Amino acid sequence: MLINNLSPAEVTRYARQMALEGWGREAQETLKSSRVLIAGAGGLASAVALHLLATGVGAVRLVDSSRVTLSDLNDQVLYRERDLGKSKASVAERRLKDLNPFSLVEGQAKTISEHNISRLAGNCNLVIDAMNNATAGYLLNQAAVKFRIPLIHAWVWEMNGRLTTFWPGQGPCLACAFPEASNGTKPALMGPLPGILGALQALEALRILGGKGPGLLGRLLFFKGEHFSFSEKPIKANPQCLVCRRLYP
Ligand SMILES: [Zn+2]
Repeated sequence: MLINNLSPAEVTRYARQMALEGWGREAQETLKSSRVLIAGAGGLASAVALHLLATGVGAVRLVDSSRVTLSDLNDQVLYRERDLGKSKASVAERRLKDLNPFSLVEGQAKTISEHNISRLAGNCNLVIDAMNNATAGYLLNQAAVKFRIPLIHAWVWEMNGRLTTFWPGQGPCLACAFPEASNGTKPALMGPLPGILGALQALEALRILGGKGPGLLGRLLFFKGEHFSFSEKPIKANPQCLVCRRLYP
């Protein structure tokens, strides 16, 4: 059980955010009592995690089995040169604890599998899909369906990104929108893209956790860096979906 009373230092820390109309102390305390699973500790996760810790989410569990490589430093802003070769989960945990001592951070150096996903997601209020990996996305979706929690999904490639919120029982799940895994994308990626999409994932998480409601339910948003344009298309829950149809009578 997390303690959600804000200390005077926290009230000062979050003062700009708490001054927002429709946010205030109650939303900030709800945020402090929230727990988020961030799947992945790469470029998307770097942005999401930094923003969620900076804004006062009470507990974050970050899961990634990989180690920091030189090419990661191009877009994964959690890491430094001195972190090369180290476990991303443990470096991320340390860096995030430095950012906000009022929140709990747990880095787990694990590969997400069907054997551990329920345990990893079980006590979380929402899941962030920051893996850029289709197979892992379906595993996260299974947990979102099982616990009926939101899954904030993003994907980045080249100069592009896509973003949406899946919420089984309230809207589409990932398998409704993408019944089959898309082909792998090229490794080409412009450095800031995960930061842009990850920050938007964090904003959506804050909206949901703070009680403003999701902004992207049923909306698949695309960002094209080549033209600096956003576009979107509607997505719906599929009554025939093999993963989530049992949630609908
Ligand atoms: Zn579905």
